[in-house]
Amino acid sequence: MAKQFKPETLCVQAGWAPKKGEPRVLPIYQSTTFKYDTSEQMARLFDLEDSGYFYTRLQNPTNDAVAAKIAALEGGVAAMLTSSGQAANYYALFNLCQAGDHFVCSSAIYGGTFNLFGVTMKKMGIDVTFINPDDSEEEIGKAFRPNTKALFGESISNPSLEVLDIEKFARIAHSHGVPLIVDNTFPTPINCRPFEWGADIVVHSTTKYMDGHATSVGGAIVDSGNFDWEAHADKFPGLCQPDESYHGLTYTKAFGKMAYITKATAQLMRDLGSIQSPMNAFLLNLGLETLHLRMPQHCRNAQRVAEYLQKNDKVAWVNYCGLPGNKYYELAQKYMPNGSCGVVSFGLKGGRDVAIRFMDHLKLAAIVTHVADARTCVLHPASHTHRQLTDEQLIEAGVRPDLIRFSVGIENADDIIADIEQALNA
Ligand code: PLP
Repeated sequence: MAKQFKPETLCVQAGWAPKKGEPRVLPIYQSTTFKYDTSEQMARLFDLEDSGYFYTRLQNPTNDAVAAKIAALEGGVAAMLTSSGQAANYYALFNLCQAGDHFVCSSAIYGGTFNLFGVTMKKMGIDVTFINPDDSEEEIGKAFRPNTKALFGESISNPSLEVLDIEKFARIAHSHGVPLIVDNTFPTPINCRPFEWGADIVVHSTTKYMDGHATSVGGAIVDSGNFDWEAHADKFPGLCQPDESYHGLTYTKAFGKMAYITKATAQLMRDLGSIQSPMNAFLLNLGLETLHLRMPQHCRNAQRVAEYLQKNDKVAWVNYCGLPGNKYYELAQKYMPNGSCGVVSFGLKGGRDVAIRFMDHLKLAAIVTHVADARTCVLHPASHTHRQLTDEQLIEAGVRPDLIRFSVGIENADDIIADIEQALNA
């Protein structure tokens, strides 16, 4: 679907354009494989000489329709769905890095990503340097090495809720000849479009707002098509030199602006196989159809909750970039003027123990390992998602030990606030 449509229209209609007599609703192509009439037809697919489906581990029509919707929403040239956000982040970097390579990453990121990058990928010989995203360009630039292949950050970090200065990060990345990869899970393209500020690749945990109903784990990688790999061909041999596993095909030559995403599909998905199931892609698509309605309601409710918490004398501190005076308020106004996300973090007077008791008294808000759901939910990262991090790493990731991550849903804000109030009083 052409990009001239507004985001609301893209949410509802992009990706699936049925022809005469075809289903109005995106069908679930629940098939591992696809039929051809001649051996030659199939052979051409394997040589990447024809486009078409042959095996769902590589591509599936349901997934492709949903990926095309996400690409249209982000303003990219193409996208790929993955089985989870973790797989998306791993592929996004592994598509550029091999053993002996290095990348630079904001320290304000999701705990699972921190572990993936800092522990698991290190075991594969891919090194990472975590930097403070608020440091100056000069300071961050010192982390770059000749073998650095990418810069990574989250547009709004989970759970520390720091807003990334995307333009600054893009400048730093490009001045070192590498792409900027932005995890845009929290604001979604409804509230922030990193490509418009210079990012080159966007990744998502679609498990969060995009699905929005807590039904399906999934991820996505979106390619802007803007990064000039050939201009830095020595850094990116995987894209600019022949791929032996594809009969010597060179991705940049054969696919131009689609080189990165085609390699991710043709090589990484083929070999590592973290495809999203077509059923999950179908559910994700239902979520996307209302993303433009849900995000503003999440943001309105979160603003109300943040303002209520700020005035309550049992609350020690509140972090929400929609609050004037917040450290990231100006950056949020710049990059996401219509709203940021529905996640608010705060601490209670009395610290960690009081936080845990407060959470146990909530009735409407559920304690779950999840965030960005239509239903209000709550988590204590230091006890749950980030419990593998040391206190030092927690602080580095912007996670105070007393931090309560409150994911405001799309219920009525009065009811959510009443639930918080009764739990605070209890
Ligand atoms: N990126 C961000 C910002 C996240 O919050 C998460 C999960 O919470 C992930 C990536 C990982 O996504 P998934 O849980 O879908 O693997």
